[in-house]
Amino acid sequence: MAAAEEDRFSLRVMTVKGRNKVLYAEIDCDFADVLFSFLTLPLGKIMRLLIQHYGNNAPILGSLKSLYVGLENLDSCHFWTEAGKLMLLDPRNSSEIQCSRLKLQIYDIDPMQCFVCRNGTCASMHHRVKCVCLNPNSSSTTMKRFIEIEHRSGDKGVFTVQTASFLLTDNLMVLPDSPISLLWLFKLYGIEDTNVLEERTLIVGLKEIMELLKGSLVSSTPLTDIFLGISTVASTFKTRKEYLMSAIPEPDDLSSTPMKINVKVVVQSSTNRILLAQTREDFVDFLFSLLTIPLGSVQSLLDNKTCFWSINNLYRSISNLEIGEHIKSEETVDRLLEPELPLYYLSSSQIFPLGEQSSPELYRLFNSNRIKYFESTPRDVWHEMNMIDPTGKDCFVKGPTTFTVTDDLVVSIPSSTSMISILNQMKIPLSDVEVQELDIGIEEALSLLRASLISTQALTDGLKPFLKTQPRDQK
Ligand SMILES: [Zn+2]
Repeated sequence: MAAAEEDRFSLRVMTVKGRNKVLYAEIDCDFADVLFSFLTLPLGKIMRLLIQHYGNNAPILGSLKSLYVGLENLDSCHFWTEAGKLMLLDPRNSSEIQCSRLKLQIYDIDPMQCFVCRNGTCASMHHRVKCVCLNPNSSSTTMKRFIEIEHRSGDKGVFTVQTASFLLTDNLMVLPDSPISLLWLFKLYGIEDTNVLEERTLIVGLKEIMELLKGSLVSSTPLTDIFLGISTVASTFKTRKEYLMSAIPEPDDLSSTPMKINVKVVVQSSTNRILLAQTREDFVDFLFSLLTIPLGSVQSLLDNKTCFWSINNLYRSISNLEIGEHIKSEETVDRLLEPELPLYYLSSSQIFPLGEQSSPELYRLFNSNRIKYFESTPRDVWHEMNMIDPTGKDCFVKGPTTFTVTDDLVVSIPSSTSMISILNQMKIPLSDVEVQELDIGIEEALSLLRASLISTQALTDGLKPFLKTQPRDQK
């Protein structure tokens, strides 16, 4: 997909002579909006975009890629509705209306749409959903008619104020474009003499923006990587280990989420490595729901201390910008720092205290196909529509069913051969294997979320601190 001429940015980039380093780029409000929109993307959408763009070379992002590919391979019969599986594979973004106004869109945002039943009284955001007003046994109850929803579009700009301009540092800090920011940057990077600076103008299109999205997650110097073609590794194995051993952020309010999900784990006693988990649908639903959480909310849940080092900087920048001068409004700040889940994405198995968009008030004009949003009850020529939950049951995964989950979060239906092949492959004697039960509450869930972003052994790294026994000395 070639970006049109207007979908490109011309950036003035300042590099340091002899150091192979980008110091900063000057960016306008349109570029800042694209960058901030990363925080509104759900983890599953990010994974989908990276796989679509990079194919087999897509970064694995801890266990997220294996979780996503496992979801893709799990038969639709394990979901209450086919629509539910599709919602997880291509999660919506609750800021789609705002993101549809971005100068450069990293994916095609469908116009807000709904499917309407034959009677014109039920509506759903997804097709392959059965309506409630017609005979449920008739095949004609599937929503077929597609209607585009009208919404107000008087609002200009996206997240930042239209006159604002910014400096973007190599590690994705966004600073107001001012002499003071510049001096602060020079001091930070030990620039004594401005003669060492070299200016370049670079054209940035879709390809570079995708590189920036990828770089924001895997690199601590994404601008240098992209513009000077020098790739750096964000973290060594040692810092990764240290990071995973640091304390988990305290959840804000433990009492508000009393839910616990029981999981049986098969543990190698000598190392406390979790070989696999045997679980019910609630835990699988929780795992798949990780893919629906917007990046900004992941940062918020983990107190902005994720392994996405550059995203931590981008996220922190928002709080340091002035509302009205740089960022549009308080509501915009909330939209970026704690994005809600889209409507119908909050599963009953969700352990985290996340918000969900409220139901749109959809009305259909009498004797017409016009469907429109209203914030308050309109005149009686408009009829309120039945909104149908496309997941069917307040959650995605169908039960009662038993599933197995591997250390890298691949979900499948249990088979006796999978356990035997793991033991053979890893050369583990049966005497070294035990089964433990864990109750996954908010602390365990936060630890698992953090590990899933960085580790290909997410179950072990996330749940090891909660196992009942310490590993025996390994001979
Ligand atoms: Zn209907």
